[in-house]
Amino acid sequence: MEIGQKFNQLTFEEYFYYVDNYKKYTDFNTLGLYRSIVENVKLSLKEKIDVREYCHLTFKKTFDFLQLKDPKVFFEISTLGQELTNGDIVKIWDDIKINQQKILKDKKIRHRNFGIYSKHNCGYENCVWNGLMIKQGSWLADGNMHFTDDKNKYQQKLNSEGRKSDRKKERQIISRELDNN
Ligand SMILES: [Zn+2]
Repeated sequence: MEIGQKFNQLTFEEYFYYVDNYKKYTDFNTLGLYRSIVENVKLSLKEKIDVREYCHLTFKKTFDFLQLKDPKVFFEISTLGQELTNGDIVKIWDDIKINQQKILKDKKIRHRNFGIYSKHNCGYENCVWNGLMIKQGSWLADGNMHFTDDKNKYQQKLNSEGRKSDRKKERQIISRELDNN
């Protein structure tokens, strides 16, 4: 059987149905499921968090792999609804980097096809993504977008917003930055 509709179109109730019955569907994709939680405009923030927690009951282990396979989605899903300081953001990305190395070192994983990864190195000392393993061809893999003006603009915005000590705005800015990459 196939689901026949995009995950990001699902209603709150449908998420629970498809998670319960995922084995029946040949086109069920766990990464797509998690990604859709961010994209789905039908869900309130509270519902998104409830769906995430329900997905974790079945797919938490797969979710942890997203730190390597798609760290952007991992970050966004993990921090849903949270107001993050700069310090929080740095800590989360540092943890992701540590966990990426653990995943890569795991012998069982080494034999799977996880693609080719390279370290993010944009040249900015304080970049939160320095040392982050990036799958080639994925977000931020082509450093150029981030390399030039974007990074400066981002840092300037973060600094000016930070002065207003509005944590919510910082969170929105980094979300936007991540979306643009
Ligand atoms: Zn960077």
